[in-house]
Amino acid sequence: NRQWRLARRPRGEAAKDDFEFVEAAVPRTLRPGEILIRNRYLSLDPYMRWRMDDAKSYAPPVAIDDPMVGSTIAEVVRSDDSAFRPGQMVLAQGGWQDYAVASSSSLRIVDEAVEPTAFLNVLGSPGFTAYAGLMKIGMPKQGQTVVVGAATGPVGSMVGQLAKRAGCRAVAIAGGPEKCRLAVDHFGFDAAVDHRGGDLAGDLAKACPDGVDVYFENIGGRVLDAVLPLLNDFARIPVCGVVSQYDGDESDGTRLASVMRDTLVKRLSWRGFIVTDFAAHRGEFLEMITPLVKTGAIVSLEDVVDGLEHAPEAFIGLLKGRNRGKLVIHIA
Ligand code: NDP
Repeated sequence: NRQWRLARRPRGEAAKDDFEFVEAAVPRTLRPGEILIRNRYLSLDPYMRWRMDDAKSYAPPVAIDDPMVGSTIAEVVRSDDSAFRPGQMVLAQGGWQDYAVASSSSLRIVDEAVEPTAFLNVLGSPGFTAYAGLMKIGMPKQGQTVVVGAATGPVGSMVGQLAKRAGCRAVAIAGGPEKCRLAVDHFGFDAAVDHRGGDLAGDLAKACPDGVDVYFENIGGRVLDAVLPLLNDFARIPVCGVVSQYDGDESDGTRLASVMRDTLVKRLSWRGFIVTDFAAHRGEFLEMITPLVKTGAIVSLEDVVDGLEHAPEAFIGLLKGRNRGKLVIHIA
């Protein structure tokens, strides 16, 4: 049972030596209600960087020498529960390893008519995060402008597609000309702005001639600085993530005093959220999105890396924007 464990807490940027690849025994004994699973696909997500630190957060840190956590698509190997038969595919919190023991209540059987990785992407947590943040907090209205960063990733690309379906102008912020092209040509954004080259603030202002009504915050730092002056009165800002801050502080972030002033003057609404806050809406999300995925009306993009051994370098690349779409490790 190959496992990637957390070897030490990162100092600033995550590094390969923060992880240790070990060979552990395959768990043999199962307690009642436990199921042995074999991971097939592992989702790599920005939040994992936070779990490597021991700062207080909404979820506990990974302990040193524990396997890294993560969602997986796995196959049931051994089960005494008649609801889970060997060979069945499930969505699990299987972690960065070949095998895991999971409680039956934590597993969800996946629809085998759909590509399994969709459950880590459009039909999984990232897709649902976009839906919950945009529809429940952003509340986009026909004709308004919605801006999102990390726009070709699984969350941002779904925000853009849902914004278009709500009749909005959808503006992407992405890293590099290739991702900007992808945002417009593949995901259907009306415009895309490159945050790595050119004049971010000026380019964004040109892409948003009527200002910004919903800023779906994935990034923080310089990107937030560029969006702030464009926010319209009564703009909504679902605060989903601040990926520019995860790997060590980006030094040129916005100053709180000016944000507070704008919040008052423009009557802005900011709301942080964790996708699990909206668990009660997961059913309505799946009901709406599953048929759209099956017909191709909602599209996705996956960056599948072969081999569990490559997980740390792929994850480090994710924090630097080297992924092209939802980053997934194909384990076996
Ligand atoms: P992505 O797959 O899009 O990966 C992260 C992307 O962030 C990179 O590809 C890169 O895209 C961009 N990025 C990284 N560093 C910077 C930087 N310094 N400045 C600007 N962009 C940067 O991620 P996800 O779609 O999985 O996640 C998007 C956001 O949603 C994250 O902030 C994540 O933490 C958050 N999230 C929050 C949840 C919640 O419950 N609140 C649940 C799930 C995700 P590019 O090359 O285009 O710059």
